[in-house]
Amino acid sequence: MASREAVVEASRCLFCFDKPCMLACPARIDVPGFMQQIRSGNLQGSARIILEANILGESCAQLCPAKALCEGACVMHKTGEQPIQIARLQRYAVKDVLDRKIGVLHAGRPNGKWVACIGSGPASLACAAELAKWGYAVSIFDRNELPGGNPTYNIPSYKISASNPLREVELLRQLGVDFRLNIEVGRDISFAELEEQFDAIFVGIGLGDTSSLELSGEDLRGVHGAKQFVRQTKMGRPHKASVGRRVAVIGAGNTAMGVLVALKRLGAETTHLIYRRSKEEMPAFKHEYEFAKEHGVIFHWEAQPVRILGKNGIVTGLQCVRTRPGEPDSRGRREPQLIPNSEFTLDVDMVIGAVGQKPATEFLRAVPGVQLRKDGTIITNEYQTGNEKYFAGGDCAHGAKLVVDAVASGKAAARSLDAWLGNPRGIPEEFGSPASWTPLSAPPQAPEHPAI
Ligand code: SF4
Repeated sequence: MASREAVVEASRCLFCFDKPCMLACPARIDVPGFMQQIRSGNLQGSARIILEANILGESCAQLCPAKALCEGACVMHKTGEQPIQIARLQRYAVKDVLDRKIGVLHAGRPNGKWVACIGSGPASLACAAELAKWGYAVSIFDRNELPGGNPTYNIPSYKISASNPLREVELLRQLGVDFRLNIEVGRDISFAELEEQFDAIFVGIGLGDTSSLELSGEDLRGVHGAKQFVRQTKMGRPHKASVGRRVAVIGAGNTAMGVLVALKRLGAETTHLIYRRSKEEMPAFKHEYEFAKEHGVIFHWEAQPVRILGKNGIVTGLQCVRTRPGEPDSRGRREPQLIPNSEFTLDVDMVIGAVGQKPATEFLRAVPGVQLRKDGTIITNEYQTGNEKYFAGGDCAHGAKLVVDAVASGKAAARSLDAWLGNPRGIPEEFGSPASWTPLSAPPQAPEHPAI
């Protein structure tokens, strides 16, 4: 966005007193506040307002379904005008300070308390940013080579490149947050050691691998989970992802739509989506569906895969059966029923499962008091687990949600943790931090994918 266009667009804002756009934002970014700063030419002030509320301000500007959140709530809709382009303006403001490596956030004066965050995804980053601003010393542990969680590894490159979240990670380094990568808690460092070294522990590990399809033929070459597939494409090894020519993706959520678009951009000729319920019941956002449709995806609604076919250990097809809705259950949901003699086979050489993710919380069973639900998510009360020293937020506690929801959850968990430790907040060193960018160590570099 050019600066003149940004100023003109921000000037359309009515600076509504009741801020419906801000209330629709899970991270509660003060939208009229940052619009005002853009309008007056103060980009750093604008970025500060955004990043104070959401340390992933640039990533969320790219990933949020803005039409369903802030832009959907903009009062301009009532007057028949286009809503303010909040997401574009947000990205414009934050991109500028990240490009120019200008520090706009300030760490609090040290309050003598130490917190460990397990996982370096959006919830942990948001929690760590809040705590660092209040004077906590924060260390983030992650078993991966790069920080950032899902936006770095598991969201297709056409939505966000792996290097984008790493720019925001540098904001945290600037706040003094310490990243300990390639370290798996419970294996490389024990829970007892963590408890000894830190006053509190936040768990923000997201979800695990893609759930199994539970189909015969799942062990054939050419069958992948959506998460693992995207990760391969993002880590600069597209040849290893070996994109098929004719690909079937099972599931109809946002992940499935994203994978289908990425496949097309990586060169797949034919892409099929198979979903056992109707189009009206798909969990994906409408705009994600429309985008996949624009990319020529063939949709098979009310169809259920029953077998992956193969020859010489390689996928050759996907056998499916038509379905129809059954009788409503106690919750009014109609379980799909297979229609006899309605089998059909798709000629594909690759099958990708996008049917949800497994929990990654099993290792927490070693922590006395931490309890898990049947689905593996962590039980919390005001973000505190059954072990009072442990807090949790994001997908590992609430199930799969948006990145901005994880940010909101991490912020709320920080408040809860801070209250448990007696609110020992250091006064922000508003003028004490360096104005220039001073990373504590060389930032990690993400490989760029050339094709998507
Ligand atoms: Fe501006 Fe729209 Fe928010 Fe009102 S609702 S403050 S016009 S962005």
